[in-house]
Amino acid sequence: MSSKLFVLAGPTAVGKGTVAAAIRADHPEIYLSVSATTRAPRPGEVDGVHYHFVDDAEFDRLVAEGQMLEWAVVHGVHRYGTPRGPVDAALADGRPALLEIDLQGARQVRENAPDAVFVFLKPPSWDELVRRLVGRGTESEEERERRLATAREELAAEAEFDVTIVNREVHAAVAELVGLMVDSVHDQ
Ligand code: 5GP
Repeated sequence: MSSKLFVLAGPTAVGKGTVAAAIRADHPEIYLSVSATTRAPRPGEVDGVHYHFVDDAEFDRLVAEGQMLEWAVVHGVHRYGTPRGPVDAALADGRPALLEIDLQGARQVRENAPDAVFVFLKPPSWDELVRRLVGRGTESEEERERRLATAREELAAEAEFDVTIVNREVHAAVAELVGLMVDSVHDQ
């Protein structure tokens, strides 16, 4: 029997990336999907580890060949998508797989892989979300406003998810997520 696919989504700046980084570093038993994206690498990001950095033509090819489990334009600019092959291979190997993607992508996975478990990562409060986004300091004022508008909409989507994890503290949130994923393997 194959193991389970988990989808982690939640509003911008809630800490999805930090949770994913902790899984990448500390939980090799979990397959963390490496997305393809048309955005440029940030300092410290490694091609094939954090993302597959591709150009528009390559992204078009992956979509046209049916290699994407889902894909979306995120924050109105760049395309991001989940290559299907490595996820299927990990599941067939008995490893739980985790996609850290946006809400549009999560909705597509709901259509394409309805057995997946959908986990919503939520901030302790709206004020805390704003504080994290401002504190991160990586976005311009305009970009921040745009992300906050998206975040407001995304917070309303919690009811579409199977499980909510409140990200008060990253280690606790990771432990909760890993607990769900490991239980899913033992349950089978
Ligand atoms: P960033 O550019 O900060 O790394 O990521 C921006 C957003 O893209 C995050 O909300 C992240 O969840 C989302 N994202 C990353 N990879 C994928 C993907 O493969 N598919 C979708 N739909 N969203 C993704």
